[in-house]
Amino acid sequence: MLFKDVIGQTEIKQHLLDIAHSGTIPHAQLFLSQHGAGGLALALAFTQYIICENKQAEDSCGTCPACVKAQKLVHPDIHFTYPIIAKKQSPHPSLSTDYIQEWRKEIIKNAYINELEWLQSIDAENKQGNITSDEARNIIKGLNLTAFEANYKIHIIWMAEALAKEGNILLKLLEEPPANTVLILIAENQEEILPTILSRCQILKINRIDDDAIATALLSKGVPQSNTQHIAYLADGNFNEAIKLIDSETGANTRLLTQWLDYSINLKTGELLKWTEENAKLGRENLKSFLEYTTHIFRESLMLMHIPNYVPRLANEENNLALRINKFMNHEKLAKLLELINKKHYEIERNVSSKMVLMDMSLHLYKIIRGK
Ligand SMILES: [Zn+2]
Repeated sequence: MLFKDVIGQTEIKQHLLDIAHSGTIPHAQLFLSQHGAGGLALALAFTQYIICENKQAEDSCGTCPACVKAQKLVHPDIHFTYPIIAKKQSPHPSLSTDYIQEWRKEIIKNAYINELEWLQSIDAENKQGNITSDEARNIIKGLNLTAFEANYKIHIIWMAEALAKEGNILLKLLEEPPANTVLILIAENQEEILPTILSRCQILKINRIDDDAIATALLSKGVPQSNTQHIAYLADGNFNEAIKLIDSETGANTRLLTQWLDYSINLKTGELLKWTEENAKLGRENLKSFLEYTTHIFRESLMLMHIPNYVPRLANEENNLALRINKFMNHEKLAKLLELINKKHYEIERNVSSKMVLMDMSLHLYKIIRGK
């Protein structure tokens, strides 16, 4: 993983770059990360930078053979330990490497995955994941081997809480590490790590990601700008959460807009009243997000109307909605509607009662569509 693909965390990245440039990389570090703040992503970027054969001042090259292997999580000098469950009827002791294919697949897809999702991916969601004593001994064995290709032998332990008391097995390794080894433990709860381990690691605290960095990352994933701020706000510094919110947020707003258009256009007064009552309770931020989303859909509808072969920035369901909107709209009506939504957004911001805003908006929508 490249540093540039790690969301936010500018200061931590600089700190890790400084360590790498200093030439004295600590033998043992503990990345104490908030949920979804990127502990693993940072460890991946940092270790790739260490082994990159053509590193730049601020990032790995991304293209040298070492980078290519690191990105596929197959570099022979970067090893991983993560919680697992024992494989049934396995003739040998259970090790993390039993699940290395699944690990590579999941982490390449999303380095911000949480422990539950990881365990679900190996069909172990109802069981507690473990890092066993056999695994701990295996870490020591691996780090004592000579590096194959890089100058360092690296081991990353993800969700080190799962070590529990087996962490004691690592004490000697932490006290007398073999030369040129780098051990990175990643954990979320300091209290669940043995004090004897804590005292032997350099601790790096990784706080929540700032909202702007999450919003920017969402935008580059193709999320409409109207949704990015609100999702970032709800995700509260957790990028894994933000990814999950993309679908639910877009889905919820699409549903709201579809209902609103249907009830207003067909003058289903009863439903419209109910819709207004219910959604007035959504809260200012949610309503603003809905109005911004509506603006996005109306704008894309306008583009579709006027630009031949225009490829709209819309998901499938939204595309159908935009096409339906265009059936009963023309340029003039859509322009009026955009103006209306803009005005209502302003009113919501100025704390006008949500119910009044939504009621008035529906009435005007009906008038504009009927050309009154
Ligand atoms: Zn490289």
